[in-house]
Amino acid sequence: MDIKKVHIVIPIVMAGIIGYLGTKIMDIKKVHIVIPIVMAGIIGYFGTEIMDIKKVHILIPIVMAGIIGYLGTKIMDIKEVHILIPIVMAGIIGYLGQTDLNEAFSVLPSIPHISRPSSQPVRQVDLDETSLVISRQTDLNEAFSVLPRMSYPQPFVDKPQRTDVLLMSPWLAPIMWEGTFNRDILNAQYRQKKFVVGVATFAVKKYVRFIEGFLGSANKFFLSGHRVNFYLFTDHPEKVPSMKLAPEKSLFIIPVQNYSRWQDISMNRMDIISNRIRTHWHYEVDYLYSMDIDVQMFEHIGVEIIDTLVGTISSWQYTKPRDSNSYERRPESRAAIPSGEGDFYYAASFYGGSVSEVYKLTTACFKGVTEDRANGIEAKWHEESHLNKYLLYHKPTRLLSPEYYWDEELPRPQIIRVKRLSSVRKDLEEVRS
Ligand code: UDP
Ligand code: MN
Repeated sequence: MDIKKVHIVIPIVMAGIIGYLGTKIMDIKKVHIVIPIVMAGIIGYFGTEIMDIKKVHILIPIVMAGIIGYLGTKIMDIKEVHILIPIVMAGIIGYLGQTDLNEAFSVLPSIPHISRPSSQPVRQVDLDETSLVISRQTDLNEAFSVLPRMSYPQPFVDKPQRTDVLLMSPWLAPIMWEGTFNRDILNAQYRQKKFVVGVATFAVKKYVRFIEGFLGSANKFFLSGHRVNFYLFTDHPEKVPSMKLAPEKSLFIIPVQNYSRWQDISMNRMDIISNRIRTHWHYEVDYLYSMDIDVQMFEHIGVEIIDTLVGTISSWQYTKPRDSNSYERRPESRAAIPSGEGDFYYAASFYGGSVSEVYKLTTACFKGVTEDRANGIEAKWHEESHLNKYLLYHKPTRLLSPEYYWDEELPRPQIIRVKRLSSVRKDLEEVRS
């Protein structure tokens, strides 16, 4: 049952009874003051107990009921009024109880729908800025506006949401785990910002077969209800299936050349993303995420992923000691991480952040790739090795747990409570040939 509805229904029924008793059964006029006051007190009390409604919900109905009773006995002598007025008043009480005045009387701003890349700058990000994500004028109205009232369990400092996983990195970046955040609070906060998020993904050669599964599931589970532009790079635009996306989601298909080696396709993503940020995306989106196409989403991936610089902890290596995971250790490579160093092993399949931070990341990583090429070396796990080096020295501000990229081949341990995104099983030799 939706508890909030009860605050409309119960007062109306009760007020009907009050009025009826007042006019038909009892002929003692004082009852018109006492009964509504008691009833309204009860209504107000339940309002505070169940719904975290402020004390005003006890006072307002009591005062109103007092007026109703007073009018009933002193001024008006028409008995029907004792049914109608309390019903109307109780309706108002109930309505106030279930919604917030700001919310009730404000109209949500409509969000313009972008259907193609616009040549007009939507917003501009200073690509060289280091501290601020987006330059924005402070809107005083926004700063002092009151959030819609929400009901949720109180947090307590001595009651951690989970004790079986690390919730914070040593540099105080939160790690996202199921059971540690309230999606409704995050959504309400995020909605005030009117951000646009871009997703860069590639489907080159045989990987076009993954487009439908990726987009179909992302349309449903990726930042559900929020604006997202999907940027799909492909050498086969004609093979992109026509799909109906949610109104707040847009798909942009961008032709791209293919490379004979799959490693080059994968590595060149960094270069293509960095160039596209410079020419387009810093006008079009606030945050940008790069994702593999050979994945599907099974659970919500929401605004908890939004932060300045975001890395995903690999599902293969999340418990391995730093010296036994897959970092590039050969000092000749620009991706080299000296032994004894390393935080987490990050997956290149899913990373992101503010447009300016992703620009710095992709530019730096591709510079490493280019220098390695010139030196005749290729890092162990290609651009993923360069990403790991970058994120070691530019700490992510937020980390996604392996829930956000769970490899389909792995059995799921208890600490992975949900599988939000998973790679699609593929015959590596066949699909990369
Ligand atoms: N990719 C592609 N065509 C290819 C190889 C790779 O489009 O022939 C893109 C695709 O977006 C893919 C990503 O590069 O998701 C990374 O490659 P892959 O998924 O094969 O790497 P893995 O996840 O197996 O390490
Ligand atoms: Mn992949």
